[in-house]
Amino acid sequence: MPTCDLLLTARWLLTQDDARREIEHAALAVKDGLVAAVGPAVDLERDWRPAERLDLGHCLVMPGLVNGHTHAAMSIFRGMADDLPLMEWLTRHIWPVEKDLTPEIVHLGAMLACAEMIRTGTTCFADMYLIEAETAKAVDISGLRGLLAEGIFAFPSPAYTDLAAGYALIEELFERYRGHPRIRFAIAPHAVYTTTPEILAQAFALAEKHDVPFMLHLGETAQESRDCLEKTGHRPLAYLDGLGCLAARTVLFHAVDLHPEELERVAAAKAKIVHNPQSNMKLGSGVAPVAAMLQAGVSVGLGTDGAASNNDLNMFSEMTSAALLAKVSGLDPTLLPARDVLDMATRGGAEAFAWPALGSLAPGQAADLIALDLAAPNLTPLYHPASHLVYAASGHEVRLTMVGGRVLYRDGGFTGFDYPALLAEIEKLRRWVAGRNGLAS
Ligand SMILES: [Zn+2]
Repeated sequence: MPTCDLLLTARWLLTQDDARREIEHAALAVKDGLVAAVGPAVDLERDWRPAERLDLGHCLVMPGLVNGHTHAAMSIFRGMADDLPLMEWLTRHIWPVEKDLTPEIVHLGAMLACAEMIRTGTTCFADMYLIEAETAKAVDISGLRGLLAEGIFAFPSPAYTDLAAGYALIEELFERYRGHPRIRFAIAPHAVYTTTPEILAQAFALAEKHDVPFMLHLGETAQESRDCLEKTGHRPLAYLDGLGCLAARTVLFHAVDLHPEELERVAAAKAKIVHNPQSNMKLGSGVAPVAAMLQAGVSVGLGTDGAASNNDLNMFSEMTSAALLAKVSGLDPTLLPARDVLDMATRGGAEAFAWPALGSLAPGQAADLIALDLAAPNLTPLYHPASHLVYAASGHEVRLTMVGGRVLYRDGGFTGFDYPALLAEIEKLRRWVAGRNGLAS
């Protein structure tokens, strides 16, 4: 009889496998951090000899969510300044604090972000920020998985004085995390309007050299498109393509202002898009044409963006927003059904970031999973699991979060770090940030 490290049993298992199987009275065997088997509990209990058992009872087990776009450490800016025009918000509130960012601040902000994501069912996230080495440390400590990138700009950042130093830092991060089971690095120029043609081409060459995703904000607002057209003679997508940077490894964040023919161009290049509905709504950026993206055959993931413009990192509320926004903006309730949204939040992210072991639970896949309490009043009664996950769950029904077979959170407790101690550090940091913003501390 084959052995496994752990045999999980639960009322429901949503596999997100190729057949999108939903198994009632299910079990899942974990071995060496991977899924060894899934199926009806009676079969697995008969066929497997586990070292340990975990009966989750009236829970639903599903793949951990993949947050396709974050600036994790910006969690320290949550709720600091809202309801402002973008430029006023950036120049008066965000940049004055960001210019004095230290490794310690980034580390604490990223730890808080990891805690929030673990708590609300995210097991992997794609991040772009400053002093990303500290985000990597936070990911390592928390036990999460991350695809991380040091933001590349045409101007100095708190992480590097000039571009040559920036590229050296990026090379060093690739070297330091080579072969790490949970942490990968990618290349992320911030956007077309904060870089130059030379930087974009250099960054793309770097992504090709390391064979990793190349990701950037693109088409976030109509204003960005107008400015790009005026400056370069092309809208952002054509500009990027003209530089040879539109390819299967390219991941576009936001993609709000993309015309139908531009979506065809994205699809033809097999480039990916990550949709950020709440950030787009809160900043008044517009509505990304997600249904049209899927129709055009583009692979789409889902992300929260940073907590300064969302204001949380909760992929359950992001799924609700994605579905509702598509329907109300298209005046059509059939647009973006729950199944498609669930695919975006799991398989879509795995595909965007070329990490095929994620996003579904099947033999050989990573044992990255979450369990939600189906006894919660808002999840009762249950007819269609996908419906509840997209329209009714808040994320706070998550009772267990596991990455690579290791439990990171269970019933209120984090296993990788001391959450009350983290809160105390964040409180000190809050006073520092508030002081710089002229807020009462
Ligand atoms: Zn962003």
